[in-house]
Amino acid sequence: MPDLLELLGRRPVVCAEGYLFECERRGYLQAGAFVPEVVLDHPEVVEGLHREFVHAGTDVVEAFTYYGHREKLRVLGKEDILEPLNRQALSIAARVARETGTLLAGNLSNTNVYEPGPAGERTVRSAFEEQVGWAAEAGVDFIIAETFSWAGEALLALETIRAAGLPAVITFAVHREGTLRDVARPEEACRQAEQAGADVVGLNCIRGPLTMLPLLTPIREAVSCPVAALPVPYRTTDEQPSMQALRDPARGGAQAFPTALDPFTCTREELGEFATAALALGVTYLGVCCGAGPHHIRAVAEAAGQAPPASRYAPDMSKHSFLGSDPGITRSYREYAREL
Ligand SMILES: [Zn+2]
Repeated sequence: MPDLLELLGRRPVVCAEGYLFECERRGYLQAGAFVPEVVLDHPEVVEGLHREFVHAGTDVVEAFTYYGHREKLRVLGKEDILEPLNRQALSIAARVARETGTLLAGNLSNTNVYEPGPAGERTVRSAFEEQVGWAAEAGVDFIIAETFSWAGEALLALETIRAAGLPAVITFAVHREGTLRDVARPEEACRQAEQAGADVVGLNCIRGPLTMLPLLTPIREAVSCPVAALPVPYRTTDEQPSMQALRDPARGGAQAFPTALDPFTCTREELGEFATAALALGVTYLGVCCGAGPHHIRAVAEAAGQAPPASRYAPDMSKHSFLGSDPGITRSYREYAREL
């Protein structure tokens, strides 16, 4: 069975994220509340998606417990499904990881109830502790704590993971302003997380490849542990640096987040180029967050030097009926292609 740190010592690691968006897009999860009830309602959909991402090259199967914590479910009046949801998500992910020889990760996320101060911290800590407890019982290899815009909340997550004796990947969410809510610079938050015992630190979600990349060099320089980068696959810009900031000119300048981001979707090549650039900066834990499709994951895995099962079906246009170069393609069709 592979070990995260041992694997990172040998080669870059790929981690597929983005289960919320993909299950929503497929019609099995409601946008808005964004709670992963799909693990109970349609476990076969989640299991199938895990398997597609493994086929495409993820080294990590992340249990789909994002937003599956007590505080979120309390708001929705669904606390009764908290434990079954967590246990089911972990058991689905464990089955796929163990059958495919990939790493099994538990997952903590931003709670959206955290506030600095003893009362807020107590609430969040107990929500994290019960999730970490279920993950530990499921035998996870490590825990990903992700999408934190508060460094303080991430450090609480880290503390509970460390208390369970598990390796921790801590990734921060950097919104439009380029800062966190309680720490000015993302690299400072990463430094604090490393000092507090995180095994991998970095960024996930919110920003697309072009606006996440410039944040990575200061992080790489600030820490000595492996650095993670998992952007969203959307064409964010200097003017609109986050997926929430994107406005669609074809729709009267309407906000595209969260269900109308399609026209901003990056190509697989753009994700492959991002992975190559991030690797050159020394980033070794790579992935894609909200909006990720298997074609994006394959491109990242291939850029990282892997040949996942899906690479067998990587494009080969030489035999295309019109655009191919194979001598078997008739000349008249090749000439016709020039007019297409
Ligand atoms: Zn995301």
